[in-house]
Amino acid sequence: KPHLVLTDVHRHYGQGESIVHVLEAANLTVNSGELVALVAPSGAGKSTLLHLSGLLESPQSGEVAIMGIPTSKLGDRGRTQLRRSTVGYVYQFHHLLPEFTALENITMPQLIAGKSQGDADRRSMELLDLLGVAPRASHRPAELSGGEQQRIAIARAAANHPKVILADEPTGNLDPETSDVVFAALANLIKNEGAAALIATHNHDLARRADRIVTLKGGLVVDHTL
Ligand code: ADP
Ligand code: ADP
Repeated sequence: KPHLVLTDVHRHYGQGESIVHVLEAANLTVNSGELVALVAPSGAGKSTLLHLSGLLESPQSGEVAIMGIPTSKLGDRGRTQLRRSTVGYVYQFHHLLPEFTALENITMPQLIAGKSQGDADRRSMELLDLLGVAPRASHRPAELSGGEQQRIAIARAAANHPKVILADEPTGNLDPETSDVVFAALANLIKNEGAAALIATHNHDLARRADRIVTLKGGLVVDHTL
């Protein structure tokens, strides 16, 4: 079942002489439980593709659909609402709130979404367990290793059961061994939750663990084999 579908997406920046066409006619489908790795050189448009997929930016033409809902005719409020209820974002740097524990960082988006404290705590512990960081529940970010911090950030992104998980270089800041642990935890989560995942990475070894690898060429999304 497709959770994310991009159809003939065009995105450029600037105008006239300085126009940069990043995506010309990008097509991509990511299904439930599927992990797609996006591997491309710096400046190729990975962040742009992720921002369009996460409804943070709009294409000049083409369609981005999440859970079968086309977004091109939605207003700002509609897009924000759909993003909040369906998309989870993981960044290279975790952006965890330093004064709160790991558990609190994961429960917070759930409380904001209206869940009870008990339900939010249960869901957070389930995610911490799934990602192998349950013993770190009451630690603050500064007391965690880089790999643990990133797994907490993944748990936070997954807290409200997103249908689409987008990650921009989620292991870009970690050593190879830790990257492997974090990527494996992320893959496990995606299978377990049935989310669709698009992960931008420079790490070819990690990309091989994905169900599919794509790259960007001439403004198109094309299949890629390493
Ligand atoms: P990547 O994530 O693969 O490094 P980006 O999606 O960040 O690539 O950028 C792709 C291209 O689009 C680059 O040439 C970049 O300079 C340009 N670009 C991205 N965002 C903007 C923006 N807001 N304004 C102008 N140019 C941009
Ligand atoms: P990069 O992946 O290239 O390091 P970032 O992921 O930090 O860059 O984001 C850079 C750009 O992403 C911003 O200039 C902005 O256009 C867009 N962006 C990121 N988060 C948001 C947001 N919450 N709302 C709107 N735009 C955002």
